[in-house]
Amino acid sequence: MLTAIVGINWGDEGKGRMVDLLSKDYDVVCRYQGGNNAGHTVINDSGKFILNLLPSGILRPEVVNIMGNGMVIDIEHLYGEMEKLKASGIKITPDNLKISDRAIICLPYHVKQDVLEEERLKDMKFGSTRRGIAPVYGDKYLKKGIRLGDLFNKESLKSQVEQIVEWKNLLIAGGYKSVPFKGEDIYNWILKYGTCLEEYITDTGIYLNKAIKEGKKIMFEAQLGALRDIDFGIYPYTSSSSTIAAYAPIGTGIPGKKLTNTIGIMKAYSSCVGEGPFTSEMFGEEAEALREAGGEYGAATGRPRRVGPFDVVASKYGVTVQGADDLALTKLDVMSYMKKVPVVTGYNVNGNITTEFPVGEDLNNATPVIEYVDGWNCDISSCRKQSDLPEAALNYIKYIEEKVGCPIKYVSVGADREAYLIMEN
Ligand code: GDP
Ligand code: MG
Repeated sequence: MLTAIVGINWGDEGKGRMVDLLSKDYDVVCRYQGGNNAGHTVINDSGKFILNLLPSGILRPEVVNIMGNGMVIDIEHLYGEMEKLKASGIKITPDNLKISDRAIICLPYHVKQDVLEEERLKDMKFGSTRRGIAPVYGDKYLKKGIRLGDLFNKESLKSQVEQIVEWKNLLIAGGYKSVPFKGEDIYNWILKYGTCLEEYITDTGIYLNKAIKEGKKIMFEAQLGALRDIDFGIYPYTSSSSTIAAYAPIGTGIPGKKLTNTIGIMKAYSSCVGEGPFTSEMFGEEAEALREAGGEYGAATGRPRRVGPFDVVASKYGVTVQGADDLALTKLDVMSYMKKVPVVTGYNVNGNITTEFPVGEDLNNATPVIEYVDGWNCDISSCRKQSDLPEAALNYIKYIEEKVGCPIKYVSVGADREAYLIMEN
């Protein structure tokens, strides 16, 4: 079984939490795109963990974790993340963590470029996490990237770094008029954090293809959600990588046809970090109440997240783009304070009501059509089976399921590992 676990919305749907839960049935968990702009929160018996780069399977000692070729890796950050986890007793060895030799290193000048560009844009900024992600993916496609496997040939790495830094300074110093980077400093930085990672670096594609032959169960953990995908998301307010299930094989080096199923993680309401159209957005007291109830502050950056009601139009689109077979509906408990639950059931685009997610100027002009359904207005956080749920909560789940056209299999009612239930029908 090869399963992709992906975000249906804008990210922060609770993927980390669901991967941690579902990975008990898998042998291998892979991250296949993105970098330390991810923030996946996992709460279990050992404590609370926020994972930026490591796959969420790292908290289960028997699971092998892969950081795939599609990722961009800030090795200083990775080193810090590994040290922190090891200090809290989590086992990390070359047996349970394998890093692709083809993954690209996110370097200090990528972070600098990200910050310089956001500052230059001022009010027009994208709301980048400022972790260098767009610049490093840009360099990958310009073929100016440095890969983790390059660490194995120090002589050629050194001259490669010299040449690329000279090129990068045309922009950093020449364009932005900032302090130029020194090739030697970048090289030393790579050695400082890369050398201790060497034992983890390998051809993870070979490992995975062998694992498939051996019948191992493999899970692919996506970062962000469908609406942040570089192709299908709200461009240019997207991430710089493919957040969709179809990229999992490419970002790890297995044949596309091997993927067997996709589980979409969908939040019971909407939240988004950064700029760009967010049609369902609520403001004022109403937004504040939902933000507080859901603890909607970024795991990677601490920024308050924008919030709104569940958006049928955006979520149905997310389900289609991801090709989800089943859904996990998360954070349903957060809405327990509402007497009436708002749902965005359509968009008004220049006077026309639609349920198809629009693109470009039509999306900029869209305003939400809101319907209200009955709230359950009681604590559901201790419900562990479908029959424990109040009728109004069940109705809300069924209502959403029908609107997005995909079965909801799991419902999460709390951040803890065991706070979930499986829908029986
Ligand atoms: P990810 O980026 O998709 O992994 O999600 P994040 O970790 O950024 O955000 C999800 C947040 O919601 C985290 O703080 C989780 O601990 C928390 N969480 C996940 N599922 C639930 C749930 O069902 N109920 C509640 N109350 N919190 C949840
Ligand atoms: Mg997150």
